[in-house]
Amino acid sequence: LDKAEADCRAVTAGEITLPRRRPDTHKGDYGRDLIIAGSVGFTGAPVLAARAASAAGAGLVSLGVPETIYNIAAVKCDEEMPFPLPCTAEGSLGGLAVYPILDRLKKADVCLVGPGLGRSQAAREIVFAILKEAAVPVVLDADGINAVSGNIDILDEALAPVILTPHAGEFKRLGGNAEGGARLSEARRFAVSHGCILVLKGHRTITALPDGAVCVNTTGGPAMAKGGTGDVLAGMIAALVGQKFPLKDAVLAAVYLHGLAGDLCQARYGEYSVTAGRIIDMLPEAIKTVI
Ligand code: AMP
Ligand code: MG
Repeated sequence: LDKAEADCRAVTAGEITLPRRRPDTHKGDYGRDLIIAGSVGFTGAPVLAARAASAAGAGLVSLGVPETIYNIAAVKCDEEMPFPLPCTAEGSLGGLAVYPILDRLKKADVCLVGPGLGRSQAAREIVFAILKEAAVPVVLDADGINAVSGNIDILDEALAPVILTPHAGEFKRLGGNAEGGARLSEARRFAVSHGCILVLKGHRTITALPDGAVCVNTTGGPAMAKGGTGDVLAGMIAALVGQKFPLKDAVLAAVYLHGLAGDLCQARYGEYSVTAGRIIDMLPEAIKTVI
């Protein structure tokens, strides 16, 4: 056993609990979540992340998308609050988008950036600006992760905790190796050396903490291997972090509940027909089991 395996813990049913809500609370107590996501051709990812955040208990969800897809996001979101971000003449996210984003960041409890955002220069600069300016935890998923790949030192400039949620391919671009036996020790190495929380997704998702602790999730299965499921997880992590549960508990609970919702979906719809939207719709059943 190397150190990572020795320190590794499986997260199983019974270990995850969420508290009942106090009766005298209001939406402001459950987090203002800022999500920056989407691009032309990727209109589903931002909406899945935002809707997953709502379904996981977020008090208020603001969703910044390029203005070219704003109308699409707006008709798909009733409970969340989409807002348009400035674009270039060609219609992709523009550098000017950084100003409204940093402005809204001041009022947010958590920021998720990346699902469907694209890999433009402007997208990368926006991710960097968020990391440098945020006083609240930042969740980097998908193109948020791609933005820091090759510029990994930017993570050291973050003032607030950073949570990265790569799948194996994104982890490879970050300089890691998610192949077979290396998964645990590589996840741990990354989290410790960059002082962040790393959620290395896949079958038996690994959560590695900056202190060297590593946890292996036990829920979820191949029915979840489908576009959009990662966007749902990212929204759930943002929601639980935004509700101010201790960071580690929030991330472990989100990963566990996401997989459990996937398992419940698999039981109902079968291995082939689980979709990301159905996982969101199953979240109430999953969450009920841990309250
Ligand atoms: P992404 O690749 O970003 O869309 O994320 C996919 C999500 O589905 C992650 O949360 C994975 O952990 C989950 N997932 C995909 N395939 C499996 C699998 N075979 N077993 C368990 N979870 C999976
Ligand atoms: Mg993804």
